[in-house]
Amino acid sequence: MAFESGLQGKVAIVTGGSRGIGRAIVELLASQGCDVTFFYRGNAGAANEVVAAVAGLGGKATAMQVDVADSAACIAAVEQVADRCERIDILVNNAGIVRDNLTAAMEDDEISSVLNTNVGGVFNMVRPVIPFMMSQRSGRIVNLSSVAGSKAGRGQANYAASKGAVDAITRALAVELAPRKILVNAVAPGVIETDMSQQVRDLADDQVKSRILLKRYGQASDIAQAVAFLVSDMASYVTGQVLYVDGGFKMD
Ligand code: NDP
Repeated sequence: MAFESGLQGKVAIVTGGSRGIGRAIVELLASQGCDVTFFYRGNAGAANEVVAAVAGLGGKATAMQVDVADSAACIAAVEQVADRCERIDILVNNAGIVRDNLTAAMEDDEISSVLNTNVGGVFNMVRPVIPFMMSQRSGRIVNLSSVAGSKAGRGQANYAASKGAVDAITRALAVELAPRKILVNAVAPGVIETDMSQQVRDLADDQVKSRILLKRYGQASDIAQAVAFLVSDMASYVTGQVLYVDGGFKMD
């Protein structure tokens, strides 16, 4: 039996693809032959760099400025992708933000912006994408969760709530969509070296590393490979799961 990704020619949408983990996912899926459209929020320079990097590798990526917290913008963007590509095979809900603060001091905006992006963004994307996947009777959805969704941490109640919700949405969607052969899973990263985790790594480097079984941070590519597995033919009997890619951090 050979290892076959089956990704050649697949149409993929990746949210938050201009930096960090999302960028690594875009590059890996494009390198496997996917036609990737990725969304970014505001950093057009970073998005253009990704498009150029993918083209340099002989792949195909298209950037669109779409705020996943904006439902109407998501609907319009998904329709544009479907018009251009005539199908949607893969959706990776990667866009996410943090606004850390101790709960008693947390501002309304620190709660609403995190929930609107991390949870609302998933709903805003899956609702317009699902009808296309249902009519195709195939599709893969991967949501980016976090160890924070199941492991207690100070100053992250808003973020933890959002990622716990992502796990719950993943399971509910897996149940709803299995009859149409649409598989839904989540990847829960530990501490990955991106802009998002910079503050945590700066403030408590030794303390955090000592709690990771493998004693090092993860790379964006570690997460991209897990996502690529879940959208590939190699994971055709996997649905409703949260895959921890965290160097053993959750075990602590
Ligand atoms: P980064 O902050 O490095 O990158 C975030 C990306 O998401 C950027 O491309 C950004 O675009 C985009 N983005 C943010 N908000 C929106 C929005 N409203 N609409 C569209 N795009 C948006 O994050 P990471 O790569 O580190 O994280 C990716 C995912 O992984 C997130 O869901 C995060 O919660 C999760 N995760 C990360 C961990 C880590 O240690 N890094 C650990 C656990 C989970 P722009 O550049 O235009 O702002």
